[in-house]
Amino acid sequence: MNIHEYQAKELLAKYGAPIAAGFAAFTVEEAVEAAKKLPGPLFVVKSQIHAGGRGKGKFKELGPDAKGGVRLAFSLDEVRAHATDMLGNTLVTIQTGEHGKQVNRLYITDGADIAKEFYLALLVDRATGRVAFVVSTEGGMDIEEVAHSTPEKIHTFDVDPATGFMPHHGRAVAAALGLTGDQGKQAAKVASSLFTAFVATDAAQIEVNPLALTEQGNLLVLDAKVGFDSNAMFRHKDLAELRDESEEDPAELEASKYDLAYIKLDGDIGCMVNGAGLAMATMDIIKLNGMFPANFLDVGGGASKEKVTAAFKIILADPNVKGILVNIFGGIMKCDIIAAGIVAAAKEVNLSVPLVVRLEGTNVAEGKEILANSGLAIVPANDLGDAAQKIVAEVKKLAA
Ligand code: GDP
Ligand code: MG
Repeated sequence: MNIHEYQAKELLAKYGAPIAAGFAAFTVEEAVEAAKKLPGPLFVVKSQIHAGGRGKGKFKELGPDAKGGVRLAFSLDEVRAHATDMLGNTLVTIQTGEHGKQVNRLYITDGADIAKEFYLALLVDRATGRVAFVVSTEGGMDIEEVAHSTPEKIHTFDVDPATGFMPHHGRAVAAALGLTGDQGKQAAKVASSLFTAFVATDAAQIEVNPLALTEQGNLLVLDAKVGFDSNAMFRHKDLAELRDESEEDPAELEASKYDLAYIKLDGDIGCMVNGAGLAMATMDIIKLNGMFPANFLDVGGGASKEKVTAAFKIILADPNVKGILVNIFGGIMKCDIIAAGIVAAAKEVNLSVPLVVRLEGTNVAEGKEILANSGLAIVPANDLGDAAQKIVAEVKKLAA
């Protein structure tokens, strides 16, 4: 689960990270009122969306010459003008995809005089299974380019969970940033506070880019991207409240209500599968047969009729879907129960596209019989290869 920059900064500030003053704003008037509470003369008006690259982003409605989603303002009038430009408009950045994201919130902050921009991030390194620091002197809006062309400028080291954060980790971050003396101490303190926040919140990532060194010689968290491990949200009720559902794909949001692991993709064949591995294999074999999956969908081990019905509705709500492949292995669940669920769900949603079902496992014969006697045009398949060939053939037959 991701949160907005202003929420991330408020959170990190609680753990002692240095943050400039700022306020969230939902309207142009609120943006101006927020700026009035700041010292000025420099304000920063920042679009709040769950995507990076805002500074270099472009607003769909404003044309190619307009400024991006993070803008400096030197007066209240400029704050007003920028807020008017941003609110309600669609920001397209390198991370949003071509559709962009609508800006519904702003963050108005006290502007800093930047001497240098660093990069400092924490994430879980899957290779070592530890929380790792990623540090670079080359922070700012071109970090992707740095990672691509000069990867040696990016330093990574992890923290042994048995010791947790130690003073030497702080010194290593300072050294990687080339900071000594008081600034080195500040860097160590920022690293320590981010690490504490990371562990305490079950974060999946904390990315500070830039970590700015101001002209006055202070380190400041100028941008923060924080995401949490969704599996741990049950023990962070306060953080769960920061969720902004308008940032999420509506179909994925609906699926999460039924505990379905659904991810929308760009193809034509809807997939309903139990088990992530089987779902991946199903997507692969659809591709092998020359078409593309419209989604990843894992209905999980104990797929009930309600779950199967919800899954059908979510798959069919995608206008790209031209056929559905159900691939279920009846292990804990029995095939006859699954088949009854599929039939009931297909009738309830008035299924209008070809449906190929491959069942395997406990009570498979009874399951197939239920499908065959359902009165629905369900195409049975014997194995995965057969199922993929059949759904592709059915869809092509309709298109011809
Ligand atoms: P991103 O483009 O989504 O990563 O948004 P950022 O919050 O990182 O802002 C983009 C850029 O705007 C930063 O890299 C800075 O160069 C600039 N910026 C952000 N805040 C300030 C500020 O307080 N003062 C100045 N001078 N520039 C800022
Ligand atoms: Mg940034």
